Amino acid sequence: MAVRRVLTVPGDETKLRIKSNKVPSIDRSVAALVEDMLDTLYEYDGIGLAAPQIGVTLRLVIIHLPDEEEPRIMINPQIVKTGGQMYEDEGCLSVPGYVGQIERYANITVKALNINGQEVRHKAIDPLFAKALQHELDHLDGILYYDRLIEGEHLKPARRADDKEATSIENKPLRQTKPTVLKESYEP
Ligand SMILES: [Zn+2]
Repeated sequence: MAVRRVLTVPGDETKLRIKSNKVPSIDRSVAALVEDMLDTLYEYDGIGLAAPQIGVTLRLVIIHLPDEEEPRIMINPQIVKTGGQMYEDEGCLSVPGYVGQIERYANITVKALNINGQEVRHKAIDPLFAKALQHELDHLDGILYYDRLIEGEHLKPARRADDKEATSIENKPLRQTKPTVLKESYEP
């Protein structure tokens, strides 16, 4: 068990852009990876983390919602169903200090294997869960949330860029931000 370094843009962007491979089998190395991802998620005070964010290009995502006791471990997740649309501010542990408004599906169902190799369906109708799922699954395909910025939108600085809590957001609902928007767009 160990806290791993979370890759960040711009320095690690090439690695973050790699499309991840399926987890071939759920063995002890996968269990150890999940432990490290959980340690890292909690250390960074995040809600979700994808394996490529710690440099492991495998299709593995963890999400621990604030109102749930247990983290959700999703191995080889696949989207089953989507519906609706919503506009939400998002942040990312790999893009520290910034947030941006993104269009997402309002609800989404994903099927994935759990750590015991059983198929589990995760139905997200809660906005936080729905956007976390879409955000983390995007990481598996090398997509960063600012690729999906609404036209005309730019990344904005998180409310307090030097505040650990503000800079470590990954899908956390933001406290009300001031309407001051950076004029220049963020160039990763
Ligand atoms: Zn992210």
